[in-house]
Amino acid sequence: MQNPITDQLNRPLHDLRISVIDRCNFRCPYCMPTEKEGTHYSFLKQDEWLTFPEIVRLTRLLVELGVRKVRLTGGEPLLRPGIVDLVKNLSAIAGIEDLALTTNGSALSKFAAPLKAAGLQRLTVSLDSLDARVFKHMSGGKGSLHEVLAGIEEAQRVGFGSIKINVVVQKGVNDNSIVDLVSHFKNSPHVLRLIEYMDVGNCNHWESKYVVSSKEIIRLISQQHALEPLPSNYFGEVAERYRFKDGGGEIGFISSISQPFCQSCTRLRLANDGKLYTCLFATQGTDIKKLVRQGANDQDLSSALKAVWAKRQDRYSQERSEIRSKTSKQKVSNPKIEMFQIGG
Ligand code: SAM
Ligand code: SF4
Ligand code: SF4
Repeated sequence: MQNPITDQLNRPLHDLRISVIDRCNFRCPYCMPTEKEGTHYSFLKQDEWLTFPEIVRLTRLLVELGVRKVRLTGGEPLLRPGIVDLVKNLSAIAGIEDLALTTNGSALSKFAAPLKAAGLQRLTVSLDSLDARVFKHMSGGKGSLHEVLAGIEEAQRVGFGSIKINVVVQKGVNDNSIVDLVSHFKNSPHVLRLIEYMDVGNCNHWESKYVVSSKEIIRLISQQHALEPLPSNYFGEVAERYRFKDGGGEIGFISSISQPFCQSCTRLRLANDGKLYTCLFATQGTDIKKLVRQGANDQDLSSALKAVWAKRQDRYSQERSEIRSKTSKQKVSNPKIEMFQIGG
């Protein structure tokens, strides 16, 4: 295995996020708001999806180029038929040090045991509130809090030790839920991660007034639970880590808006339509599926993958305000990729 390849800003290729489906059974307002009359999402047709052999082949080649961490996401990844088989095939690739999956947790009770048996190492579950009414709103009226909590419990039972719990914080929507969530997961093996609401995609009609900064969230939590910062575990870690001073465990903050971390961003994203994206906020991807289906050999594919990373210079979060004013003028012709298409 060769040394990891680096991009224009000298960032190594280290993480791969694979979106295995663009559909979802939830309609979280910050990601995929409920369709209003006359609007609908145009999802990919099944023959446009990357197949499992295609995903596994591209992953294997990317591992040869430096990828060590692989995360499956979506849409809702547990809706992809055969997801357990994909995990099994990916877990057999030598060189992957961390194989994880992010889910809304609605089907986790059913899938936790088979996913564990197939070799999945870590789970992230999204859960925005423990207040059933707020939860319902934040899943677009589709989710059941009870099912998600049961899913987390089952995942713990089958051996997923420390589960990450993602919370997207929106001002006036679920910021009142934060302290309850913290109290619930404190003294458990799980790690709550509070995420600043990001301007990903276009359909959530993001406005900065709905963002609660990590600084503000930390201030809120500290009124009840004293926190102290921890050093990061590795280069490129997205969350800033803190611990409860009384030994109640760890908590993380993801501050894409208030403290961008592009300088250490080592993530490549593979969407379900076979396009590669070098940034969560990209407007264009590279169609690697086309090359695969034209019969490219491993060497040609590997060169194409290398070229995508080699020319990467994305740093959207650091350039946010300038780019936002430009893209708002080109909204129709060149929209940003949506979160449910690219994965979080
Ligand atoms: N459906 C799965 C889930 O919700 O966990 C996986 C896909 S979802 C797109 C991945 C992560 O992105 C979730 O934790 C979700 O909360 C987060 N997310 C979606 N839209 C976001 C936004 N606008 N700002 C911040 N995080 C967002
Ligand atoms: Fe679905 Fe996840 Fe997006 Fe919510 S955040 S709509 S669960 S893909
Ligand atoms: Fe990485 Fe793009 Fe996010 Fe910056 S804005 S951290 S480059 S995904």
